[in-house]
Amino acid sequence: MMSAMSDSPAFTPLDDAAVAALERICGAERVLRAPEKLEPYTHDEHTSARGTPEAAVLAASIDEVAAVLRLANERHIAITPRGLGTGLVGGSVPAFGGVVLSVEKMARIIEIDGDNLSVVVEPGMVTGALQKAVEAEGLFYPVDPASLESCSIGGNVANNAGGPRAFKYGVTRHYVTGLCGVLGSGERFRWGGKVVKNASGYDLSQAVIGTEGTVAVATEITLRLLPLPPVVADLLLPFDDLFAAGRYVTALLRDLRIMPAALELVDGDCVRAAQVALERPVPHSDAAAHVIVELDGNDADAVWRSVEAAGEKAQSMGAREVLVADNPREREKLWEARRKVRDAIIASCPCRAGQDIVVPRGRLPGFLVAAREIAARSRMQATGFGHAGDGNLHFYLLGRGWEPKEFAKASPAVQIELMKKVLEMGGAISGEHGIGSVRRDHLRLATGAVELAWMRRLKAAADPNGILNPGKIF
Ligand SMILES: Cc1cc2nc3c(=O)[nH]c(=O)nc-3n(C[C@H](O)[C@H](O)[C@H](O)COP(=O)(O)OP(=O)(O)OC[C@H]3O[C@@H](n4cnc5c(N)ncnc54)[C@H](O)[C@@H]3O)c2cc1C
Repeated sequence: MMSAMSDSPAFTPLDDAAVAALERICGAERVLRAPEKLEPYTHDEHTSARGTPEAAVLAASIDEVAAVLRLANERHIAITPRGLGTGLVGGSVPAFGGVVLSVEKMARIIEIDGDNLSVVVEPGMVTGALQKAVEAEGLFYPVDPASLESCSIGGNVANNAGGPRAFKYGVTRHYVTGLCGVLGSGERFRWGGKVVKNASGYDLSQAVIGTEGTVAVATEITLRLLPLPPVVADLLLPFDDLFAAGRYVTALLRDLRIMPAALELVDGDCVRAAQVALERPVPHSDAAAHVIVELDGNDADAVWRSVEAAGEKAQSMGAREVLVADNPREREKLWEARRKVRDAIIASCPCRAGQDIVVPRGRLPGFLVAAREIAARSRMQATGFGHAGDGNLHFYLLGRGWEPKEFAKASPAVQIELMKKVLEMGGAISGEHGIGSVRRDHLRLATGAVELAWMRRLKAAADPNGILNPGKIF
């Protein structure tokens, strides 16, 4: 048997006996083998990560997950956990065949506990559906990845997902108070619960969050909630100068001491791409950058005072106009272009490589300009959008006019140069999307030997036979 730490472990192909055992665990109808049934499990939303499993197993309970993992350990079968496949780094795509273990059938809310501001949920639940369900009870789960209508809460836990509201409210790990599931070893666990403070030894739930399905399969998640803020307003602020937009972000926080729920920056190229995709004019699409500010609270007067102050400051710092949206329809319209950017870029250029870097907030415009220069030296372009409040930028290296094969050959070296720039600026190579299979080279660049060794030790302790999501992260 190969060790968990091998870079190319050998796994046992699924034979008839293993398939029969899986069918005994889950029922034959939830063990998929036909190529057309397996196709959805051969990719996520990353454009080139591909891998075909020998079976996809749709587990419906922790008992089934535990039994599948026990079998995998006995027979050395590779297991790839999967939520709803919206990942952007190939994390839920099998690298060594074997079994994709999907939790899509485990999608129930087990309990909304209003008195304790808590929700207990199965991992396959769509994040946006969870949000709507708790909002109906006057409660708030603020983590809002742009994929929230299609990703799962278990996938969010596995990737420690964030979103625009991370600036004020934090990311997934800040809401997980309890986690239940099965380790790669096949051992079940139930850690934490509804308590919002817990200093009882190591916090093992937090150690598992963000491990991208390489350590455990989450089968039940307890999240803390907040009271739903009733007043929300958004501002759209077009700037002619990217650096002025960056200075405005700093001024809003430091000088006005305003804490927006979301603080986004969209570079002009991205705005124009979104405009094409939306097939309608976007206001000020010729600007160098759009800043979006979302303000929320309980007191309408207080929120409006902040809206006015934020708008006046923006105009004094070079914003062309202040566009305000304060009802759901207008707010949705204001965010539409921002939400469309990724699809728009994908549609606009077949030669592209997406990244998800984070730098100290004040350095974000400087990084974007440096990235454009680095790209231009190789006859490529760089454009970006993202969470200005967090310094987290989703940017794309584009090869307009390039042949796809040539771009695939030339772009990795440019990406390495860009990652070196990120690290030189005190940044990190992923703010939200993780490492998966496609960013492992970048992780090696960014991570010291001791840090990497500790990550491997944690993985080996939880998954001694290396059966869980092999070929990812390391
Ligand atoms: C248009 C678009 C916008 C996006 N915007 C954002 C954003 O704003 N912020 C952000 O953070 N991400 C974003 N993403 C990325 C993606 O949606 C998130 O990473 C999300 O958390 C993945 O959830 P999923 O259910 O689709 O997981 P999958 O893609 O199925 O899996 C992702 C990883 O989690 C593991 N996994 C899934 N479920 C479990 C489980 N129950 N137990 C253990 N491991 C598990 C998988 O093995 C894999 O490594 C975006 C993606 C798209 C396509």
